[in-house]
Amino acid sequence: MPDTADFLRLESLQVHFPVQGGLLDRVLGRPGGAVRAVDGIDLSVGRGEIVALVGESGSGKTTVGRVITKLAQPTGGRMLFEGRDMTSVLGASALRPYRHRVQMIFQDAYQALNPRHTVFDIVAEPLRSLKLVENNAQLIERVSEALASAGVNPPSDFFARFPHELSGGQRQRVVIAGALAVKPELIVADEPVSMLDVSIRAQILQVLVDLRDDHNMALLFITHDLPLAWFIADRIAVLYLGNLVEVGSADEITFNPRHPYTVALRNATPQIGGNAARAELATLQGEVPSAARVPSGCRFHPRCPLAFSRCREEEPPAIEVGPQHMSACWLAK
Ligand code: SF4
Repeated sequence: MPDTADFLRLESLQVHFPVQGGLLDRVLGRPGGAVRAVDGIDLSVGRGEIVALVGESGSGKTTVGRVITKLAQPTGGRMLFEGRDMTSVLGASALRPYRHRVQMIFQDAYQALNPRHTVFDIVAEPLRSLKLVENNAQLIERVSEALASAGVNPPSDFFARFPHELSGGQRQRVVIAGALAVKPELIVADEPVSMLDVSIRAQILQVLVDLRDDHNMALLFITHDLPLAWFIADRIAVLYLGNLVEVGSADEITFNPRHPYTVALRNATPQIGGNAARAELATLQGEVPSAARVPSGCRFHPRCPLAFSRCREEEPPAIEVGPQHMSACWLAK
């Protein structure tokens, strides 16, 4: 069981990107606006816990992952790691111990792997750059161990291969091995199986679950796929236009969602939504919204009587609707 004490904690985390105003704004000297990619979220991940961050494209989930791995800087709020405020820790040498403990797995293995490097060099790179090995024998041992943990067997058969000589599943395993080589305690995996065949997905997910079980590693699993989130996660957090709208156990969020957006996501999934996908009020309408143009009214419940009254005046806070189950909707009570 995961440790419920906070290992990673995001407090009112905010990432706003400035946008230039139109021609008229520039002529009149009016300031441009801001894209609220992440708009003040509170989220924690316990040691050895798997938390899935679920949302559509543009919801801000990748930006959250990039902030956690220090590839992006928040514009507000705090990020605490084992109680230490990491928000303003910057620079390669100051971040070296943190990078050792927190790694990211990217969605696109084609782009994540340098085509001119062999598998050995790709997996060895973080060990060399973080100076975690003292000699070549140690390096070979750590690379072999990481490849074997990611299911690349026998590891030595793959040392001299280049990314183009690997299948899609093998490439993603090598990406995972690169993250595992430093023996991290937290991995942020951004859609790690979305580009893989269904038959390979289950194997990769099992590798991640085994890592948690065997090494008590925590995982933030970023996905747009609710059934995948339910399969792998202890808890699910649902993100909509930079705001967390619902957080709870994987079973609660999947089978007893209380926020209309989560209900719509669930119903859009035939495996778990069944015929409810036909329910008019519980499906998502129109295009995926953009954080640059936040829609007025409520997209997930267009006829909600509160959309232009109470909800417009006061954004619903996260309301407790069950044990450790929070929903940000006045109707969820
Ligand atoms: Fe949407 Fe607010 Fe109505 Fe909930 S209360 S369905 S968030 S408009």
